[in-house]
Amino acid sequence: MTADPALRTHEPPPAPAPRKRAPAAATPAAEERVTPMMAQYVEIKAANADSLLFYRMGDFYELFFEDAEIASRALGIVLTKRGKHLGQDIPMCGVPIERADDYLQRLIGLGHRVAVCEQMEDPAEAKKRGAKAVVRRDVVRLVTPGTITEERLLEPARASLLVAVARRKVSDDEHAYGIAAVDITTGVFQVVETARAGLGPTLARLEPREIVLADTLHDDPDLAGVWREIGAPLYPLPRDGLDAASAERRLKETFGVATLDAFGAFTRAEIAAAGTVLAYVERTQIAARPALRPPAREDASGSLVIDAATRANLELTRTLSGERAGSLLAAIDRTLTPGGGRLLAERLAGPLTDIAAIRARQDAVARLVEDTLLRDRLRERLASTPDMSRALGRLALDRGGPRDLAAVRDGLAAAKGIAALLGEAGDLPAEIEAACRALRDLDPVLEARLAQTLADELPLSKRDGGFVAQGIDAALDEARALGSDSRRFIAGLQARYAEETGCRTLRIKHNAMLGYYLEVPAAFGEELLRGPLKGDYIHRQTMSDAMRFTTLELGELERAIASASERAVAIELSIFTDLAAMLAAERPTILAAGDALSAIDVAASLADLASERAWSRPKVDDSLAFLVEDGRHPVVEAALAREGKPFIANACDLSGENAGAIAVITGPNMGGKSTYLRQNALVVVLAQMGAFVPASRAHVGVCDRLFSRVGAADDLARGRSTFMVEMVETAAILNQATRRSLVILDEIGRGTATFDGLSIAWAAIEHLHEDNRCRALFATHFHELTRLTERFARIDTLTLKVAEHAGQVIFLHEVVKGAADRSYGLQVAKLAGLPLSVVARAGEILAELERTEREHPRAARLDDLPLFAAPVRRAPAPAPPQPARDALREVLGALDPDEMTPKEALEALYALKAAAKVGAS
Ligand code: ADP
Repeated sequence: MTADPALRTHEPPPAPAPRKRAPAAATPAAEERVTPMMAQYVEIKAANADSLLFYRMGDFYELFFEDAEIASRALGIVLTKRGKHLGQDIPMCGVPIERADDYLQRLIGLGHRVAVCEQMEDPAEAKKRGAKAVVRRDVVRLVTPGTITEERLLEPARASLLVAVARRKVSDDEHAYGIAAVDITTGVFQVVETARAGLGPTLARLEPREIVLADTLHDDPDLAGVWREIGAPLYPLPRDGLDAASAERRLKETFGVATLDAFGAFTRAEIAAAGTVLAYVERTQIAARPALRPPAREDASGSLVIDAATRANLELTRTLSGERAGSLLAAIDRTLTPGGGRLLAERLAGPLTDIAAIRARQDAVARLVEDTLLRDRLRERLASTPDMSRALGRLALDRGGPRDLAAVRDGLAAAKGIAALLGEAGDLPAEIEAACRALRDLDPVLEARLAQTLADELPLSKRDGGFVAQGIDAALDEARALGSDSRRFIAGLQARYAEETGCRTLRIKHNAMLGYYLEVPAAFGEELLRGPLKGDYIHRQTMSDAMRFTTLELGELERAIASASERAVAIELSIFTDLAAMLAAERPTILAAGDALSAIDVAASLADLASERAWSRPKVDDSLAFLVEDGRHPVVEAALAREGKPFIANACDLSGENAGAIAVITGPNMGGKSTYLRQNALVVVLAQMGAFVPASRAHVGVCDRLFSRVGAADDLARGRSTFMVEMVETAAILNQATRRSLVILDEIGRGTATFDGLSIAWAAIEHLHEDNRCRALFATHFHELTRLTERFARIDTLTLKVAEHAGQVIFLHEVVKGAADRSYGLQVAKLAGLPLSVVARAGEILAELERTEREHPRAARLDDLPLFAAPVRRAPAPAPPQPARDALREVLGALDPDEMTPKEALEALYALKAAAKVGAS
């Protein structure tokens, strides 16, 4: 892809510069002398050492030295050389301006940051300062994962959140964490405060593209696990400049207010986080300022807490392998606008706990389920509604083009149409009514002026001109007419010159080097050079068979055309600026209308889904009910439907008066246990986000937290198969689940030996029943656990029905009361194609093991356990002391006297003494 470097720049090649060394060495030798341009490059690069520098030269961004090597490897573009220094080449590669977006995307995706350095003046200006003067350049923007604004680099239906985390002490041993999330593409700005335990779940909900934080937080070992789990790139900022006073000042300056009270009462941690995020926006956007909305404070207790592991496990917005396809979001997303897509994802990621708010959303969906006609009409309008918020975001940053103006124009037109539709719809539920009011608040002049001003066909860049319609601006029309008149005039000139010279093949042509010229065959040219017309026709070029001339008249015309088109573009740019300013002044109402369209889109899309799939409106209240009839798993159901297979609907009831019930589920592998567990968890998520649920009836007492854990054996997809992880996650549940939580445990205790595993699973269920008292579903292959029903009132057993036919197992996927009589492991193994000899041999071994078990049943031994293990649990017996002799033996056994230096021998002696002491105490 590399063109000849000489063709693409207006400047001489950079002189060789020393690699990775300051160029301005004292009294440099001749070959070490640095050209002014390289000096400029090195200085700018030094100020942006952690970014790849895109250095603008004409129509290319060039990269030099190490940056060039990195970029050429990452992008697969040819590494060239440019000049030498001390016998060494300067590596260089370049990307053409018009394809810069693609390259940026790939570099950002690979974790690089890019500093974009532009020419800040016309090269002609620089030349006026002297032949050697360099064009002024400066970095205008740092491109980082959280600050991308290019349409092509953004996922339309996903927010692009830059998140800052700050920490403030609230008591001697407690910290509050402030989290500020900004989407510079839409202006969204939210802040929230949480305790340490809420940090992970809150960040997991936001799915940040990038996290900025003070270096002290970045380096805190206690938080390393949180950052790892979230997986977003981190950018530490030095703590200086992030103090409380600077944060508050930044916020006030950004929003031009004297006090922050108008936005709500922020905590210190929230202000600190908001200040940090603004500092980073300033740092990356340099002179440009995104149009942020005033910060909106969120109540951390207002949403269902779902930690990162649970989100991943339930595959809410991404599958375990990180894709959107196959997630719950993909299965329910029928939105038609990018903004609607973002809102749906946001609601799915952060279901509510406020019952009134949930019901308000349900009302909107319900209304559109009933009113099919209104829904269809709305969806028809929404289908052609562009992304106004992001278009406005680009315009605010001065990165917008004519098509962004058109996006706002079309969005405003859609808003008008939808407001009219809703106006005829009679009584509306509160959410839709509010949206409708926001749409009516729009000033009709905005759309009218855009519609009138913009041409039908729009160029990508405003600098190309041609986007303003005819008849808008008299001066513009005149300049354009001059351009086209001149062209007509040139055609007239050609005829006149042909007659004057007698050369019928005379043509007036144009190229970049000569501008307009006239061309005649060589023989005629000679005549013109000598003949009577020689004063009028000025020779420019001799070709092999033709000669080129110009005339004074042609020169004048050329200047007129050029200046007319320059004038036209200048007028168009000023009209663009006016339109952008008009929209900027109305930004709050336009953004509110955009949000309203998104809310209508979400309600209509959920209604569409609900009516097509026969989903029902769940009853949501503050009870401890959890009742689902004919529940289905939306993703598994859709996957089966593609294969023409039915999904077997199943009920679930964990309702309790004062505490939740627990269902222990057994059944063969592949029976459908995991599917059943997850579909019930998804009912909670869908119900609390205000959607309908895949069931014929559902009643959900609002949950505060949702936990879902998969035993180690099943968790390989996340690359975390260790038993330790499973135990850490189980510990988190047992420590955090409240009476309002819903817990889903799938095969806990599988990652260790049978007795260990069974004991842990048993004790965990006891704890859930006695201490957490939450609603829970517990799938297990330990059949012994079904005996817990005999001891605990609120534990029930369920199993997945299987039929056997001619030695083959058939999974019916039907959940029924009771326990599985056996595991059907051999049948499943046979289905999987294990060699028949192995299956037969396993059958023999199983028969033998079962005989032993019949004679000394393990379950009977479990019956001997104390009925309520609580006292034992609360005061665990002290661990038996380690025999001292063993410790001594170990140390002694490890010694090799023949290999030891005297110093090592002495140290060993001390170690032995220490071991003896531990044993004695
Ligand atoms: P388990 O956890 O018991 O091993 P899964 O829940 O993973 O079983 O289910 C195994 C497969 O069975 C699923 O991939 C799905 O194809 C099918 N399945 C599960 N539940 C149902 C159901 N209710 N109706 C129809 N097919 C089901």
